[in-house]
Amino acid sequence: MSMDEKRIGVYICHCGTNIAGTVDIDAVTSYARSLDSVVVAKDYRFMCSDPGQELIRQDIKELGLNRVVVASCSPLMHEPTFRRVCEETGVNRYLFQMANIREHASWVTEDKGEATEKAKALISAAVRRIFYQEPLEIKEVPVNPNTLIVGGGIAGIQAALEIADSGSRVYLVEREPSIGGHMIQLDKTFPTLDCSACILTPKMSDVGSHPNIELIAYSEVEEISGYVGNFKVKIRRKARYVDEEKCTGCGICQEKCPWKVPSEFDVGVGQRKVIYTPFPQAVPNIPVIDRENCVYFKKGTCRACEKFCEVGAIDFEQTDRFEEVEVGNVIVATGYDVMDPSPIAEYGYGRYDNVLTGIQFERMSNAAGPTGGNIQLKDGSTPESIAIIHCVGSRDENYHEYCSRVCCMYALKFSHLIKEKTDAEVYQMYIDMRCFGKGYEEFYHRLTEEGVKFVRGKVSQVTDQVIEEEEKGKLILVVEDTLLGSVIRVPVDMVILCTAIEARSDAEQVARLFSLSLSADGFFLERHPKLDPVATMTDGIYVVGCCQGSKDIPDTVAQASAAAARVLAVISKGKIEIEAAIAVADEEKCSGCKTCILLCPYSAISFDEEKKVSRINEALCKGCGVCAAACPSAAITARHFTTEQIMAEIEGVLV
Ligand SMILES: Cc1cc2nc3c(=O)[nH]c(=O)nc-3n(C[C@H](O)[C@H](O)[C@H](O)COP(=O)(O)OP(=O)(O)OC[C@H]3O[C@@H](n4cnc5c(N)ncnc54)[C@H](O)[C@@H]3O)c2cc1C
Repeated sequence: MSMDEKRIGVYICHCGTNIAGTVDIDAVTSYARSLDSVVVAKDYRFMCSDPGQELIRQDIKELGLNRVVVASCSPLMHEPTFRRVCEETGVNRYLFQMANIREHASWVTEDKGEATEKAKALISAAVRRIFYQEPLEIKEVPVNPNTLIVGGGIAGIQAALEIADSGSRVYLVEREPSIGGHMIQLDKTFPTLDCSACILTPKMSDVGSHPNIELIAYSEVEEISGYVGNFKVKIRRKARYVDEEKCTGCGICQEKCPWKVPSEFDVGVGQRKVIYTPFPQAVPNIPVIDRENCVYFKKGTCRACEKFCEVGAIDFEQTDRFEEVEVGNVIVATGYDVMDPSPIAEYGYGRYDNVLTGIQFERMSNAAGPTGGNIQLKDGSTPESIAIIHCVGSRDENYHEYCSRVCCMYALKFSHLIKEKTDAEVYQMYIDMRCFGKGYEEFYHRLTEEGVKFVRGKVSQVTDQVIEEEEKGKLILVVEDTLLGSVIRVPVDMVILCTAIEARSDAEQVARLFSLSLSADGFFLERHPKLDPVATMTDGIYVVGCCQGSKDIPDTVAQASAAAARVLAVISKGKIEIEAAIAVADEEKCSGCKTCILLCPYSAISFDEEKKVSRINEALCKGCGVCAAACPSAAITARHFTTEQIMAEIEGVLV
């Protein structure tokens, strides 16, 4: 056997009946045997199983195979399996090729003859192609053990603590003045009705004081460059106009500030001062001056905060500062926005005082909130009846087709809180009850025993147009009760809208910054919905919590822990393999036109000004081939996708 002799083994998988039910396996196997340089062709029920893999290993050893083709399913799932089999037996992973005779043949037709011919063509293509494939050298790069986490809601907090507790450094960047996210706005949490702040604030303080966590609050990521294991991140620390080193968090500045504006944290239900921390347990406990509303910034007078600050921490001259950190991995945990229900005009949000959103109700019901936990109408009186409308903007093709997954449960929670604090009648206007989590169905049953009235139907209108005497001074819900089969009118004092959880309004911008993709619903796209739910298509960047899709706190925490485990696995390995099937530029042929630089979606190509040629960063290149296709001088080759290999593949399909 000469060193250059190509000895190809072809292995055809039945995939149970997935392939064998439509493709004539015997015919395909004998065909494969007849192809040039094929030394052996075998079939097996499940090639990915241990015995299937062993079959390949044995043949490599006994028959001296130096190239392997497996004809089975999509490479997405099992290419790594078979590449490993090859490598374990001394065959370079790039001397392996997969022919997809399931998704591309047996699953797309019921015609056995056609499926068999297509399978033959795909195998012929793979065999011809592999003839020209070259072994490629696998390189490794060291991993920086620091991690960047973007977003300090429960997702970011959980991930930060898990990574930091294991001894690695975390930079936690939070856009708002304090960490906590939406969870810190909530009153109680379903289904256990734990006080949200009671379970979250200890974690927040741990983050604030952890020796391995650098909390960078009131800040945003401006730029990120690099690749898995070695990212460089530029962070903008927004001016607080308060010196963080000097401030003791005594709160006197907030007390003395004479100006009030609606509080974002209380979603308009309460007010805050112009120098403020969003809530008393803020972490870090350092106020910010709201420049837009500060009278000193607007008119040059006041400076009350400065006068009363004993440590001289107020600094009106402060400007945004930039800092750079280096990290190996990034976890994006930027959470969600609550949908603004104003466009759904029929529900009267913004028009009627006592129509609230769920998150506004959370603030009202919270003992530490603006009403001290009193559930009250705008005029301060206690409501005698409250309706909770489910699916506002969710499961509605005019707004969001998806289910927000938490509304049924928090609507039930609200009923309980209302019943606990008032004598009000409570109506749940629902389409279906979706109580899928652990203890959720039981919580629903508990509520049915608390005297809550359930009306199955979508509310068509909230109006103050009175028809009957008893409706006077009330908000009337018009709803088709689908269980009664009739349209009913329900007069109430307060309406709570369970508005959809939606992707952040700046999700596209953040996606661009971190090279993420968005799914059709606007949330960040995970690498695989079932098998890789926290990784993304960009190695080293993970998405967790509600920025990946609407979910409750238990699922958010589970995802955060999953991402932390993934990051820790990479850190403990200390190095990471980089893809070898990447583009290479031939300096001799490069004309310096820079077309490739403009087109590269991974910013992997730079320009060498001295030599006037393009340079490809091996670690950043993902081997997409855009540059190779576009290069007018044919100076770029995509390794593993050379013209010779692709032409051979095309010829193989056409024979
Ligand atoms: C009315 C209501 C009631 C709910 N009640 C419950 C309940 O009882 N039980 C339950 O399990 N779930 C409940 N939920 C769901 C719960 O709120 C979420 O599961 C949880 O808050 C998700 O956390 P997160 O960290 O993913 O997102 P978030 O809480 O949204 O946190 C994201 C964080 O990222 C920050 N951020 C955003 N963009 C950037 C950026 N570009 N740079 C830096 N930082 C950024 C934000 O400021 C925020 O601090 C409720 C939801 C609603 C709307």
